[in-house]
Amino acid sequence: MSGNFPPAAREPSSLEQALKQFFGYDSFRPGQQQIVEDALNSRDLLIVMPTGGGKSLCFQLPALLKPGLTVVVSPLIALMQDQVEALRNNGIGATFLNSTLNWQAELRAKEAILNGRVKLLYVAPERLLSERFMPFLEQVDAEIGINGFAIDEAHCVSEWGHDFRPEYRQLRQLRRRYPKVPLMALTATATARVRTDITQQLALRQPVTHVASFNRPNLYYEVRPKHRQSYSELLQIVRTAGGSGIVYCLSRKKVDELALRLRNSKISALPYHAGMSDEERSVNQTRFIRDDAQVMVATIAFGMGINKPDVRFVVHYDLPRNLESYYQESGRAGRDGEQALCTLFFSYGDLKTIEYLIDQKPDPQEQRIARQQLRRMIDYAEGTDCRRTIQLSYFGEQFPGNCGNCDNCRYPKPVEDRTVEAQKFLSCVARCGERFGVTHIIDVLRGCKNQKIQQYEHHNLSTYGIGKDRSEDDWKTLGRTLLHQGLVDETSDGYRVLKLNERSWEVMRKQRTVLVARTLAETAIRTERSLRSAEVEMLFDRLRALRKEIADEQSLPPYMVFQDSTLRLMAQQRPQTLEKFGQLNGVVNYKVTQYGERFVAEIRAYCQEQGASGGPADNLPSDSQQLTLQLHRQGLSPAEIAQKRQLSPSTIIEHLTQLIEMKLPVDLNQLVPFERQEVILQAIETVGAESLKPIFEYLGESYSYDEIKLVRAWVRSGNDTLGF
Ligand code: ADP
Ligand code: ZN
Repeated sequence: MSGNFPPAAREPSSLEQALKQFFGYDSFRPGQQQIVEDALNSRDLLIVMPTGGGKSLCFQLPALLKPGLTVVVSPLIALMQDQVEALRNNGIGATFLNSTLNWQAELRAKEAILNGRVKLLYVAPERLLSERFMPFLEQVDAEIGINGFAIDEAHCVSEWGHDFRPEYRQLRQLRRRYPKVPLMALTATATARVRTDITQQLALRQPVTHVASFNRPNLYYEVRPKHRQSYSELLQIVRTAGGSGIVYCLSRKKVDELALRLRNSKISALPYHAGMSDEERSVNQTRFIRDDAQVMVATIAFGMGINKPDVRFVVHYDLPRNLESYYQESGRAGRDGEQALCTLFFSYGDLKTIEYLIDQKPDPQEQRIARQQLRRMIDYAEGTDCRRTIQLSYFGEQFPGNCGNCDNCRYPKPVEDRTVEAQKFLSCVARCGERFGVTHIIDVLRGCKNQKIQQYEHHNLSTYGIGKDRSEDDWKTLGRTLLHQGLVDETSDGYRVLKLNERSWEVMRKQRTVLVARTLAETAIRTERSLRSAEVEMLFDRLRALRKEIADEQSLPPYMVFQDSTLRLMAQQRPQTLEKFGQLNGVVNYKVTQYGERFVAEIRAYCQEQGASGGPADNLPSDSQQLTLQLHRQGLSPAEIAQKRQLSPSTIIEHLTQLIEMKLPVDLNQLVPFERQEVILQAIETVGAESLKPIFEYLGESYSYDEIKLVRAWVRSGNDTLGF
């Protein structure tokens, strides 16, 4: 026994108690408590928080603590209904008034408001300010008292925002008609220009401004090169994610194709794009939110106003047009604060498509802006710095880097000094008179004998053939990097002729070094399952299934029953009494009564089964296995690990197989190439996973037992959707 006592528990403040009572949370997120206090002091507020930051609570909690009614202005009907449903599900009086209600329902809602049974009323801006609605509002104010207006998505007042809505401008009247009622404006749009606009347009009175950091620490950002195997990588992401995800594509056609392809791989995926009917779209959206489908493949038409907190991954299968959109779209992952994955597949081919689209824009100014934004996007994709540093700098926020939760921080890319090659390349551009594009320059460098070279007599140049030692692809990569680093220019008149600039000459004069990130190691897939024990995972899956069952019974999206984080806590702490259950973070009394018994019963059943089968301890890795895992995570091959540890290679494979089955983060792609995984998976699907020999024989013996074992372990670990 050590002599340490646990630190004295701090007495929760009365606000924290209220937070627990109404929402079941133990603590405030950064900024929330201060905001709630300011709101209770009736200050005007401007709140800028990233998506998922927890804005709703900032007006919901004060609404519950003040006498009277809070009016929430929200532009999106779906979002309104969502929030009201979630509040009611926590036992809180909330309602909305919008065009979806028939007159009886509207009458009932109004009655409830005038009876004081409603603390939060959600309305669309156009209705709030309509001639018909104003008298009702006056009556409410006179009889019940309006204690605050919360304006959600407040950037809609600004023409500089990405979603200007003229009806938002009318909201200025609120200040005039209700001079004593405090206003709270909320937005996730980060630019300073929009913030100023909001304050002016809504006539906020000396607002307290809270700008939260735009960093989303729970999101893992990575960029992968897009190539032929990208589809396999995507499949792997979907299969290992263990939850919902969105895959964004650039065109409708690609959305349809990819959704179909995923379905052929036995993934429940649905398409969503502007070419579909409203009804189809809304059906697919609901199925996604209710977890009837795992993946939504969509154009950027999808996402705005969709409040699904448990999206576990957002993949951009094509390049987004700019970094702000990328931030917003990828930000739809992990709103519940749980770990989530944001992957961008990057190819230079996409670049051409977007450049083409930009060229179609009629206004040259617009073209220039779009090009500049695209350039920032490329900088992000090609960047070797911390992805957060690059993103946040775009919003004017300094981030020190080393986040430990992006690919560049976790797997720093080696950079190579390629100054000499760059000099060869650039001097070749000079020798050719700055009249040719990349392809021709490379042909000259590599000493090709084609007609164009003959015609211009470029085989007589001093740079002819000086780049034979490198492949065409290698030169292409270098050429692009030079372009993206601004070390050479390219004409945009449709011919893409390379032109030297001041910086090119600096390189040639040896005043500037050229660093290029190596791209070889990038294809390694990184399975993002953190070190959770298999046991927790198993119970979690069962609780998830129970949640889905209950959600379906009540026609609710599953996350409204309990969020992932709460299920995870249940799986970890395994409360076996209702009392213990009620103490979990995220569980309000109302939910204990509603769902407690069924969850507790499930947990009890699980614990009993585990007890009977020898307990969960069997499922944890041994020290030796853990050591293997560590070395594997450092990038060592099984042979290298075997050598280092003085063990036989087959023992190491055995370790890895078991680690995979325990769902520990073994990177399968480091062990078996994608294409081979796919083939083995298909074989397993055909002949079953029971014994190895039939699989081995089915594959014509061209796949090793080791490879088969590893893939089979992956299938067995339940990461598959193949149905074993
Ligand atoms: P925003 O409107 O800023 O995008 P939300 O208000 O929808 O974010 O909140 C995002 C998620 O965070 C929701 O699932 C919400 O329940 C959760 N949340 C908010 N505040 C807290 C808190 N203090 N503790 C735990 N979870 C919270
Ligand atoms: Zn980082």
